[in-house]
Amino acid sequence: MTVILLLLAAGFALAWWKVLRLRAADAAAHAREIAVLRSAHGQELEDHRHRLETLLDSMIEGLIVLDPQGRIVLTNRAAETLFGFSRQMVGGTLLEAVRHHEVAAVAARVATERAILDHELRLEGPPARILQVNAVALHDSTGVAAGSMLVFHDLTRLRELEGARQEFVANVSHELRTPLSLIKGAAETLIDGAKADASALERLLPIIDRQADRLTLLIDDLLLLAKLDSGRIELRLEAAPLQGAVQEVFGDLAKRAEARGVRLENQVPAGLRAEADPNRLRQVLSNLVDNGIKYGRSGGQLTVTAQRLADGQVEVCVRDDGPGIPPESLGRVFERFYRVDKARSREQGGTGLGLAIVKHVVQAHGGQVRVESELGQGAAFYFMLPAAKP
Ligand code: ADP
Repeated sequence: MTVILLLLAAGFALAWWKVLRLRAADAAAHAREIAVLRSAHGQELEDHRHRLETLLDSMIEGLIVLDPQGRIVLTNRAAETLFGFSRQMVGGTLLEAVRHHEVAAVAARVATERAILDHELRLEGPPARILQVNAVALHDSTGVAAGSMLVFHDLTRLRELEGARQEFVANVSHELRTPLSLIKGAAETLIDGAKADASALERLLPIIDRQADRLTLLIDDLLLLAKLDSGRIELRLEAAPLQGAVQEVFGDLAKRAEARGVRLENQVPAGLRAEADPNRLRQVLSNLVDNGIKYGRSGGQLTVTAQRLADGQVEVCVRDDGPGIPPESLGRVFERFYRVDKARSREQGGTGLGLAIVKHVVQAHGGQVRVESELGQGAAFYFMLPAAKP
């Protein structure tokens, strides 16, 4: 009987041991399965995080996401560059990262608002920036507050362009008004009776004629600049001989040079050619030579030289020996309507657009311009164009 019981117990123990062994094997397999799933899931999360980071870093706008306690949970590269903080600021407060009380105030306000906040602020530089901040409160799927998101748009360039446009419109109006008021004044004087006076007619009609020409010149220059700005200028590129172009321009302006006693010298080597639209090339040369005659020394000399540069460009230099340009104006003479001496420019019939046209025409050819001058030592205007293929 005892033997039978022992045998039964042994049989039961054996069966139980088998069950336990099977269970242990199951558990191990299960654990392995979970580990595999976990690591796959972890990899997926990591990929997801990487994708999100790449996407956010490619945004032009700066982005900062805050948790409900106002701590940073996410930022992108644009925000870090704008405010000059590093990604290590994640976990810190907004104020620590951006050091700007207005931004912190917007973030604090958005927590209690339903709408998207829109706020414009200025970051003191350098460089100073104008930013538009859009802030929105975030909620999870159950409607519980989950922090906020701030998006920063850099409006600096836009504001600069707006400012330049307004200044341009004001300048154009001013430039148009001057000749118009002279024409109007002369016409009114004639209407008021001066038309019967031969000497008044002789004095006033040339004013009307000159000022009408000035208006035409101004409008032509403005239209050309508008075309250059919009890239609508059509260039008929060819291998344009430089020496010949300079000679033609000298021919056109010979009378003006003679009137001021300016000697014109063409030192451009024969055979040097630029890949350029010949008409536009003449226009560039004409503006520079005309300026050299107008603003150079009366009785002085104007010389044009040119050379081929190692980088496949040709460089042309128009140099005079006049009073030159003061250092503070050197960086501005290529701006529209910028004049060192306003009265002198107007008296010479200048539109104030000549050098801006030179710069844009040269740039349309893929070239650059620059000026060198020392007061009392004359001025040298350089422009570079691609050399024509030999
Ligand atoms: P404009 O001659 O019609 O006034 P530009 O754009 O051609 O306009 O020139 C801008 C300004 O640059 C001129 O008003 C003048 O003050 C200055 N400038 C240009 N060329 C010379 C030069 N060769 N020497 C001295 N000043 C110059």
